[in-house]
Amino acid sequence: MKARKERKTVFDESMEAFYRAAELIHLHPRVRLELEEPDFEHIFHITVETRDRLVPLSPAEEAQFRELPASSVKAGEALEPLANGQFVLHRRALLKADVTLREGVLRIPKRGLFRIEKGGPKKFKAYRIQYNQVRGPYKGGVRFHKDVSLDLFKALAADMTWKTAIVDVPFGGAKGGVRIDPHAYSREEIERVSLRFIYKLKNLIGPYLDIPAPDVNTNPEIMALMMRQYMDGERMPHAMRGVVTGKDVRIGGSEGRKKATGLGTVYCIQEWARWRGKSLEGSRVLVQGFGNVGSATAEILHHLGARIVAVQDAYGTVYDEKGLDIPALLDHCYSNRENLRRSVDGFPGAPSLSASDFWFLDADIAVPAALGGEITAEVADRMKVKVVAEAANGPTTPDGDEVLRARKIDIIPDIICNAGGVTVSYYEWLQNLRMEHWTEEEVNQRLERCIKANYSIIRDVAQDAPQHAASHDSRPFAIGQETDMRTAAMVLALKRIEAHYLLEGFSQ
Ligand code: NAD
Repeated sequence: MKARKERKTVFDESMEAFYRAAELIHLHPRVRLELEEPDFEHIFHITVETRDRLVPLSPAEEAQFRELPASSVKAGEALEPLANGQFVLHRRALLKADVTLREGVLRIPKRGLFRIEKGGPKKFKAYRIQYNQVRGPYKGGVRFHKDVSLDLFKALAADMTWKTAIVDVPFGGAKGGVRIDPHAYSREEIERVSLRFIYKLKNLIGPYLDIPAPDVNTNPEIMALMMRQYMDGERMPHAMRGVVTGKDVRIGGSEGRKKATGLGTVYCIQEWARWRGKSLEGSRVLVQGFGNVGSATAEILHHLGARIVAVQDAYGTVYDEKGLDIPALLDHCYSNRENLRRSVDGFPGAPSLSASDFWFLDADIAVPAALGGEITAEVADRMKVKVVAEAANGPTTPDGDEVLRARKIDIIPDIICNAGGVTVSYYEWLQNLRMEHWTEEEVNQRLERCIKANYSIIRDVAQDAPQHAASHDSRPFAIGQETDMRTAAMVLALKRIEAHYLLEGFSQ
């Protein structure tokens, strides 16, 4: 066993299930060494030009500019609102404007007092962790967030390695991104960050080498930019569309990819409900995170008759005991152009709730679909749900996990629960390489078979009930004893990965 450090990092914590499963299956010692750390850790910097900003004055500062007359600055497109309350000041805003500036401060009618902050070049730290490629090209998302670190990306890249093995797609694991608060930057600046990120990574990624995808704060538009940056100037660009997945369907994305992670989560929840003899109809659900994964999960569950009683995101929590009107909430977040943060906050259809009460609401199913480390021992101790479906990566801490298990609250571990995204990414990649376009029905049918079969294998391993059923064969993965679902999922991943090393051997 690896020597434990005093203070555990996120990576150490995320590897606990790996070590448990490795012990149980007597993982080959050299395979264990290969899998304990990433193949490559790329840490680099990117620089981009940023524009001037209008930064709102604090109430204390406002007093000294009370007499400042308003400037007739042309708003509209020329003053681009940012989700953090600032504006990007495009020079055309000043054309024909009548401006009164005092100490760099100006008053914009109806908007208030702002200080002009000079733009210029900025530097951001960026990462790409290529964890393992024994089963196929490195594969994993790109995250733009202010709290990312090498340690976090190592954990997420390791998770991708287990996840691709669990859904049995021929990929390895990777993850990366940029340390940036995307809410503080304009569309154009985020575009520059995305392009520069791929410019620096160009020699390290490729359709048969490492295939990025969307993750937190990245989306199909960003994937399109990344693809173009990679293909630009190449002789055979059409053969390279598979360099990223999660693209818009009109440019080589797969039908069904947008909702695939949420749909995969729902397939797992359906299997759990079938096993526990419960119906999803009328069941009460808590969803944390209303981005790509949370909103799709909520929408599909709502469609299946479940009641989504509360949704929480980074800015607010909304609650309705009778079940939120999810189509209206989606409209509020995604069709309302004023809602720059795409937040549930301010939703007129339901009252808001204090953030700290969210996890303790009376419900059947909790779906953490935001960031990691949310369900700590303290949270787990007071949750009232019957199952936690981990749509996010690493939402439960090891202490939280222990408490949930002790309280007999079921867990659908992240490495199967949110694997729908990478599964359909594989279908997208296949379609790109074959230049095909599959229907959404075909994609979803394949996804359903894949997720439900592998979920069933994990459950059989956990219950030590190996079987050869029409849908799956869990016999090669049984370990002769019962275990928890998280360890069982890792057993499945490690057995599939280990086979490659043992059958192919090691290059010296
Ligand atoms: P996203 O950026 O689309 O949405 C993130 C959501 O989480 C937003 O609603 C945001 O407001 C919310 N959030 C952020 N911080 C929060 C906080 N402190 N409290 C409550 N809510 C908070 O991201 P996404 O793609 O939906 O990813 C969500 C999770 O799912 C991540 O853990 C990601 O790694 C995981 N995941 C995503 C995919 C995918 O296909 N996008 C696949 C597998 C796993």
